[in-house]
Amino acid sequence: MHRFDVIVVGGGTAGAIAAVAAARRGAHTCLVDGAGHLGGTCVALANITPFHNSRGEAVVQGLAQELVEHIGAQGGTRGKPHLPNFAGIGGSFTPVDPEAMKVALFQLAEAAGVELWLHTVMVDALTGGTTVTGVRAHNKSGPQTLSAKVVIDATGDADVAQRAGAAYVQDTPEAALNATLLFRVAGVDTDALIADARGAPHKFVLLSDPYLRQVKKLSPGQVMRERVSDIYDFPYIYLSNLVRDYVPRSDWGEWGITGEDKSEWGRLKPFGARFSIMPLPHRRDVVTLNVTSLTFDATDGAQRSRAEMEGLRQMQLALEILRRYVPGFARSFLHTVLPGVSVRASRRIVGEYELKRDDVENGARFADGIARGSYPMSVAVRPGVREHLFVRDGGDYDIPYRCLVPRDMDGLLVAGRCLSASREAIGSARMGAQCMAYGEAAATAAALAAERGVAPRAVDVATLRRALKEQKAIV
Ligand SMILES: Cc1cc2nc3c(=O)[nH]c(=O)nc-3n(C[C@H](O)[C@H](O)[C@H](O)COP(=O)(O)OP(=O)(O)OC[C@H]3O[C@@H](n4cnc5c(N)ncnc54)[C@H](O)[C@@H]3O)c2cc1C
Repeated sequence: MHRFDVIVVGGGTAGAIAAVAAARRGAHTCLVDGAGHLGGTCVALANITPFHNSRGEAVVQGLAQELVEHIGAQGGTRGKPHLPNFAGIGGSFTPVDPEAMKVALFQLAEAAGVELWLHTVMVDALTGGTTVTGVRAHNKSGPQTLSAKVVIDATGDADVAQRAGAAYVQDTPEAALNATLLFRVAGVDTDALIADARGAPHKFVLLSDPYLRQVKKLSPGQVMRERVSDIYDFPYIYLSNLVRDYVPRSDWGEWGITGEDKSEWGRLKPFGARFSIMPLPHRRDVVTLNVTSLTFDATDGAQRSRAEMEGLRQMQLALEILRRYVPGFARSFLHTVLPGVSVRASRRIVGEYELKRDDVENGARFADGIARGSYPMSVAVRPGVREHLFVRDGGDYDIPYRCLVPRDMDGLLVAGRCLSASREAIGSARMGAQCMAYGEAAATAAALAAERGVAPRAVDVATLRRALKEQKAIV
């Protein structure tokens, strides 16, 4: 039996930050991840977003901001890391070099004294009654048993909570947000892409947040003319309708297209309605493509395997479309297929509080707020098609500590996209910068609970918020 104060399961976006935060507070901390590196989905995306709301006010700092600065010190961000986001979906956009992010996370974990258990899969939870006391894991050395005063479930899919028998919710694949096999393409002439955007702003998603048009009085044409001269002025790019704007009508028959609505896109139907293109911070010819769209149950092993194959099929089709029709891509080539389909939605715990659509829309404040979110709620309206519901007045909302605390289980906290939130609210609360803030908050609470010998739900929230403020987190 290996004994720790805190075990973090999942070293992704939330979990890597959680492990560093717990170890810095003096907790003997172990981080378990099935992969061989840290950073999870944000490493695949090569960005961490959003650090600001649509008004330009910071919503996340603390350890997430320190990580961005650490990546920057290695040349892995732009000089000013947080870039404007004129798509109006999230207040700022922060591209990071994914390899520098992996290195930076290892350095922070090592300096904090985290014990890393990589290539180690959590297979079961250890429980005593309704308290989680540790996990069973498996790696090259065989089965492992690890115990802790507090376990943080940062698996994205709430694997620990589910194995422990905690209550959770999961939407049907059709009602949940789709998943995506991300890939990167090199050899892109991004100047040509930006010239197209400047000449025809209506082909791009611009200023979606009503606050930007109504209060800030920005217009898409004016923004493109006056503020955008290269890809880093317009880094969060969505083509608004691939078929209407790029595939000539004379070619529609070849693809089986019968109309501009996504339901009429023939062989291109599997793609998400918005084709998303994101630059890396230091290579203007390499972009990440967020375009494939997969509808399946991400907690079903067999379906997850099949989704990888379907993702690859869609990726090849997307490459053909990009090269033939989208300015700047004619001579592009495949650079990287990111490891594993990236999942937007699966299990979420039933927590002491469920974050709701009204809380997000109305910019709710909570006495136990431990993080702030500002991204609009992406909600699936039909497979592959999402709508965005915005926070009022370009603002932000609090995420209460209770969303990280399972209602029916002690010894366990969650961090990341498996927090307690409604189907709509998770569409906002799942973003990378927020997941990092949950990681810092859950770890700080876990360390306080371990130190004081109390259950995580009994941690004094005033003390927790004070500790987070001292760590420069925004609460
Ligand atoms: C396609 C897509 C596009 C997105 N776009 C953006 C964007 O542009 N910007 C942004 O900031 N956010 C974006 N998001 C949202 C955001 O990236 C994710 O919601 C967030 O990164 C999730 O963080 P997490 O820590 O919960 O999970 P992850 O980062 O996925 O980490 C989970 C970790 O747990 C490990 N793990 C899982 N199960 C086990 C187990 N049983 N045993 C051991 N280890 C395990 C995994 O290996 C992984 O490292 C996007 C999400 C998706 C899917």
